[in-house]
Amino acid sequence: MTLEGKVALVTGASRGIGAAVARALDGHGAKLGLASRSGDDLGLDAAAQPCDVRELDQLESIVAATVERFGRLDILIVNAGVGAYGPFLDLSLEHLDEMIDVNLKGTLYAVRAALPHLVESGRADIVTIASEAGRRGLPYEATYCASKFGQVGFTRALDHELREHGVRCTNVCPGGVATDFALDQGRGRTPEALPGMMTADDVAEVVLFVLTRPRNHRILETAFRPVTEPSWG
Ligand code: NAP
Repeated sequence: MTLEGKVALVTGASRGIGAAVARALDGHGAKLGLASRSGDDLGLDAAAQPCDVRELDQLESIVAATVERFGRLDILIVNAGVGAYGPFLDLSLEHLDEMIDVNLKGTLYAVRAALPHLVESGRADIVTIASEAGRRGLPYEATYCASKFGQVGFTRALDHELREHGVRCTNVCPGGVATDFALDQGRGRTPEALPGMMTADDVAEVVLFVLTRPRNHRILETAFRPVTEPSWG
């Protein structure tokens, strides 16, 4: 199934999973709006501009630019995210606020900005790139887990509200993916861990699967982990 004729907005599109998803959607014929603080267009024929997902007006602006350029909006990929880990009290207030503001409030803001156009589409998808950390509590990731559980809960609840309006809502919950993020502050991983992790393209394939399901059903949640990560028991 192709995504020809579809228009998608990807947040956090400049690197990592967001960039891989954007390239995969472009490769399957979708037109794109790309949101990130750097405003990178990835060299694609896309509407791209700097957008911090903590700022609702900046999200409204990239949504408007995408719709103005391509005439509609059918897909929202909520992907922008940050992480910092360690004992809860060791986490700086700055990192605590950033995770909640980017991962959780940024998700609510992105949906708020895009939803009128998605409802107008009538055959739309919201895909939230959450995490296994949105399904299970993980040690030294309490704040990150809080932000990701929040994303998962929000997206699950939206499904009730939006299904009858033709908007499908999906949580995509990967385990470790080899991106800049995986080596960020306090993660405790070294570059040697990267080959054992999944790739951003692995996640993009799952997103494509979700988006190309026939409209008679929807994928509510996907969870997948690298074989190097343990089972939950
Ligand atoms: P990444 O490589 O660090 O990329 C993060 C992206 O988010 C970048 O494009 C960055 O662009 C953007 N971003 C960060 N803060 C932003 C803000 N305030 N406003 C707009 N854009 C912002 O991370 P990733 O691994 O691809 O992670 C993407 C998503 O997947 C996150 O939600 C993360 O929680 C989730 N996830 C990651 C993993 C993993 O192991 N990597 C596993 C499960 C889930 P700019 O710097 O240009 O703004």
